[in-house]
Amino acid sequence: MGTYTIQQVLIPVGQGYETIDVQIEGEAIAAIAPHLEPTGTVIDGRNKLLLPGFVNAHTHSSELWQRGSIAPLPLELWLGELCDFPLLDPEQVYLSALGTAVETLLSGGTTVVDHLTLIPGQEKETVAAAVRGYQEVGIRAFVGPLIQDQSLTTSLPTGGEMRTHVPHYMSLQDNLDLMADLVANFHRPEAGMNIMLAPTGPQLCSNALLTGCVELSDRHSLCRHTHLLESKAQQMLAYEKYGCSAAEQLQRLGFLGDRTSLAHCVWLDAADIAILAATHSTVVHNPLSNLRLGSGIAPILKYRQAGVNVTFGCDGSASNDSQDVLEAIKLGCILHNTTDFEYRHWITPKDAIQMATLGGATGLNLADQIGSLTVGKKADLALYNLTNLSLLPRTDPIGLLVLGRPTQVVDSVWVNGRLVVQQGEMATLDVATLRQELFDRSQWDGIGLPGQSAYRHSPLRQEMEAPYRRVMGLPK
Ligand SMILES: [Zn+2]
Repeated sequence: MGTYTIQQVLIPVGQGYETIDVQIEGEAIAAIAPHLEPTGTVIDGRNKLLLPGFVNAHTHSSELWQRGSIAPLPLELWLGELCDFPLLDPEQVYLSALGTAVETLLSGGTTVVDHLTLIPGQEKETVAAAVRGYQEVGIRAFVGPLIQDQSLTTSLPTGGEMRTHVPHYMSLQDNLDLMADLVANFHRPEAGMNIMLAPTGPQLCSNALLTGCVELSDRHSLCRHTHLLESKAQQMLAYEKYGCSAAEQLQRLGFLGDRTSLAHCVWLDAADIAILAATHSTVVHNPLSNLRLGSGIAPILKYRQAGVNVTFGCDGSASNDSQDVLEAIKLGCILHNTTDFEYRHWITPKDAIQMATLGGATGLNLADQIGSLTVGKKADLALYNLTNLSLLPRTDPIGLLVLGRPTQVVDSVWVNGRLVVQQGEMATLDVATLRQELFDRSQWDGIGLPGQSAYRHSPLRQEMEAPYRRVMGLPK
């Protein structure tokens, strides 16, 4: 940590830009003015753009090990296949947390929300490994261990048919005890490390588990996070399970609120949207995975018109299959133009940046601390090199950043005042060593496509395929 003076840098102001000096002292933005007395490390900001850091508001870091390798499948069957991959060890979880953090930082992100898949029997070790990775790299992190008390096969609607399920290996009480322990051991917000209560989703959790999460998060003022109505099958299941929509059920259980962020929200109706607005809940839009898994197009323009806070996530690398926040912002910005002929509702590049920065901060109850270039806020900042070929010629810097295809444009990143990226390179981590570790611990493999002999062997996917096809009205 130190003092930095960024001189004559472009920042967005209103509809245009201003050239200004920005000073960082300790953890915070200390001053913003046309000309400041240079102190500490002086950085030439000419031909550079300074923005608040983005929030990668939903991912599953350990999916890095499966990226590029799962066939085109809908969510439920994709999950079946994902669950049949060999279990990771904590060292792999550590490495994939590093990889996720690096890709997030090098695309302008300063905060990651990791909905972390736990290794059965090594739940605490899993969280410790991810926490160690994030602290070493220096990214602000929210780790929400994926907890559930029902097995994956229960996530399919029954269509009136009786089915039996093996019980999930973690009971309600196991889950709540684990979370209380993790909160006591790892929740250190002053160090940029936060634990959140993040049940997998209503489709895999009992009401008692969701209520238990509400109680524990309220007791410690923690954020809540979950998947909400990502797929058509989940919408159907909710009516079978609750007799109402999943959004309505979460409201009844007290799960929604201004500390709650909800990944996906693809299959919500007008009444559900009103519930999200009334409870000040945040929608995390994951356009890449929604397309990759055929989940649908979330009604993002409707959320925005209803006053619902919306931000962006990459989602896990097995359904994206990248952690480039700028890519998620671009697609999340332009995808919705196809859903409404009223172009005045469309998302502008500046709107998209606002959603990815202050919108992300708001969803984590941190809008008073990060998310804008404001004196006194934490210095979570990204500096972009506007002379990079992919950002030329000189037109609108934010238009180029959001609508273009920016390539290695991040010059510097600060998180909580700590310089973690310097001249386009990680300052806190040897990326060559990380690359070697990821290389050494993996093998070239083929993607198995449905119907081909190379189709990956996955008993769980096979078990789920027939009931999935039946409830979705697909031929046998
Ligand atoms: Zn997810």
